[in-house]
Amino acid sequence: MDKQSLFVQVANLEERIGELYVELGALKQKIVELLEENQRLSQENERWRNAVTHDDVLSSGRENLRRIYDEGFHICNLKYGSLRTEGECLFCMSFLNK
Ligand SMILES: [Zn+2]
Repeated sequence: MDKQSLFVQVANLEERIGELYVELGALKQKIVELLEENQRLSQENERWRNAVTHDDVLSSGRENLRRIYDEGFHICNLKYGSLRTEGECLFCMSFLNK
């Protein structure tokens, strides 16, 4: 096998890895979007259930927010509904501790 052909093979492999990396990034983004969409739908479902059962709106609302936060989503008005990718959020926490 000559050196030239080895270099060509390595270059091709490098290109394919680059393409896979881009694809992986797109998939990661898609997962975040799906999780956020799922969260929105769960909240909507929860609101419907609350409307039907006439629960105490204030206390169940607070519990819902706590649960949403514990599941990894922002409940603060800065990033409401988006995934907490950076760990705890001081804005969310101050809102929960009111
Ligand atoms: Zn937050």
